[in-house]
Amino acid sequence: MRVIGTAGHVDHGKSTLIQAITGIDPDRLREEKERGMTIDLGFAWLTLPSGESVGVVDVPGHIDFIKNMLAGVGGIDAALLVVAADEGAMPQTREHLAILDLLEVQAGLVAVTKADLIEDEDWLELVQADVAETLADTVLAKTEIIPVSALTGRGIPELVEALDTVLKNSPARMDKGRPRLLVDRVFSVSGFGTVVTGTLIDGQLTVGQDVEILPDGARSRIRGLQAHKQKVEQAQPGSRVAANLAGLSTEQVRRGDVVTTAGWLEPSQLIDTRLRCLGDAPRPLKHNQPVEIFTGSSEVSGYLRLLGQQEIPPGETGWVQLRLQRRIPVVKGDRFIVRQASPSLTIGGGAVVDPLPRRRHRRFRPALIKRLETLADGTPEELLTETLDRLGPAQVRDLMHHSPLAESVTESALQSLLKAGNIFEIPTVNGSSEIPNPKASKVVVASKAGWSNLTAQISGILSTYHQAYPLRVGMLRGELQSRLKLETGLFNKIVEQAQHLQIVQALDTTVWLKGHTPQFSQHQQRAMDTLLAQFGRNPFATPSPKESLPVLGNDEDLLTALIETGKLMRLSSDVLLLPETYESFAAWLKTYLAEHDSVTVAQVRDAFNTSRKYALALLEYSDAQGLTRRVGDERILRK
Ligand code: GDP
Ligand code: MG
Repeated sequence: MRVIGTAGHVDHGKSTLIQAITGIDPDRLREEKERGMTIDLGFAWLTLPSGESVGVVDVPGHIDFIKNMLAGVGGIDAALLVVAADEGAMPQTREHLAILDLLEVQAGLVAVTKADLIEDEDWLELVQADVAETLADTVLAKTEIIPVSALTGRGIPELVEALDTVLKNSPARMDKGRPRLLVDRVFSVSGFGTVVTGTLIDGQLTVGQDVEILPDGARSRIRGLQAHKQKVEQAQPGSRVAANLAGLSTEQVRRGDVVTTAGWLEPSQLIDTRLRCLGDAPRPLKHNQPVEIFTGSSEVSGYLRLLGQQEIPPGETGWVQLRLQRRIPVVKGDRFIVRQASPSLTIGGGAVVDPLPRRRHRRFRPALIKRLETLADGTPEELLTETLDRLGPAQVRDLMHHSPLAESVTESALQSLLKAGNIFEIPTVNGSSEIPNPKASKVVVASKAGWSNLTAQISGILSTYHQAYPLRVGMLRGELQSRLKLETGLFNKIVEQAQHLQIVQALDTTVWLKGHTPQFSQHQQRAMDTLLAQFGRNPFATPSPKESLPVLGNDEDLLTALIETGKLMRLSSDVLLLPETYESFAAWLKTYLAEHDSVTVAQVRDAFNTSRKYALALLEYSDAQGLTRRVGDERILRK
């Protein structure tokens, strides 16, 4: 299914030509639509000689053209520019051409209509030459120009033949697998409820599918689908679609909305773009200039924030952050047109470079311009690296979410970057040359810059902490984690990698910079040694924290330091012991349970000649470690 759209000055014969090639009168369809008799909008279709079916979008007026071309950027494969032989190129012909140019519509055909009105063939050739000159320096420069007459039928078969060739030579749009139905009409059908029509781009929609309506985020389900007046189970990208949405009132969806699958598309009021000022624009584009933005089927007011330059002269291109009056959902690569409100005039157009920059940019920052250049022109690998540089180490599923590329493109770029070593898995297992499967979404990957930015941040936080608390071994892991605003699984992998690279050292509860040792005085050191000796003398009848403190001159930091450095182990709030004591107990426990089915607190107490409190703490700790499991009053070995 391919779609073409008409362009050209009013009354030059667009609608008549469409009727001549399709047998469908788009103007009649429009009247029916206005009276609620049809749900297709100026839309006709035909089957080409090759068997390919083509939809033709006709537009009644000038502003409709602009809106329709945009809705069709994803949906329209080629433009059919119509010029009447008796009038030649007119102002709207030129403006439409300029818009096709701004939108970089790749394929097209030009029909010089009403050829029957010109009797002199030489004159007709002159008109064609004149049209060719108008096309020079535009996207349609090399386009075939065909004289036709809807009245006599002259040129109609040639036009249809040429259409076939043009479409065969223009590649089908990539199906990104992320359907977006650009809503242009909303109405209610009795017995069915809310129906929306629009062009479906980038993916398929299926009856029964759950959908989200953006920007507001209402949820619904597709109850029924029509494409070209036929009931269908699945609508294909590029087609004009009517969708019946379940449980939704006509107030909950508007022209300009996007019907899509939930959870991947986030609307934004700030959008980074590359924008070209139209060559015919009356004056340069200025910073903070108010404009009307047309994209998809939506229209929104906003301001241009010019980045890296003060103005964009006519015919030139620049980086612009759009600051919009309301949020709109767009994706990278979406085209838009910029118009001024009064006098109403097209002044430029461009493409979305970053649909979700999230913040207002400082305008003159070389790093920003570099980033926009990469986003606009980079290879998938460069784009993905840039994304990871910014995100820092991330789980693959989050990377997928933030990647400006289609999922399959992200995946293959990720594979090649992993293979080349430009992106690496975290933690990196020593000596392993295995490439992780990027589809395993919990895999954490990092770019070199993303990793070194993060480790610089970690080092900064820790060294400040060490200066502030010289007696403490390190920072609590939870505190570092919340300072870095990282999710636990990701944080743990990052700490593991940082340990592996000898940047930090870490224990269960604490992290510190490699090489940092608490600065104890001789006096403090001696007190700690005395206490440890006491623990060694009676390993299973050790001092409690409360009994230990006086030995340390009541300095709680010293006790914390002993625990954090792993010199003492805290079994419970009341029981401390040496780590080797617990290890010898654990070894005994394993041997014992290999020979017996279970063990009780009393048996442990007697075996180590200790108290019930210690025996209980030892067993509870080994439960927590996953070594044993409690069954009633007994412990058994955990399988
Ligand atoms: P649109 O505004 O571009 O859609 O133009 P229409 O298709 O509505 O046509 C405008 C006028 O031109 C109508 O009166 C048509 O009958 C007339 N017209 C269209 N095509 C031809 C043609 O090939 N020959 C002649 N003589 N008149 C035509
Ligand atoms: Mg018309």
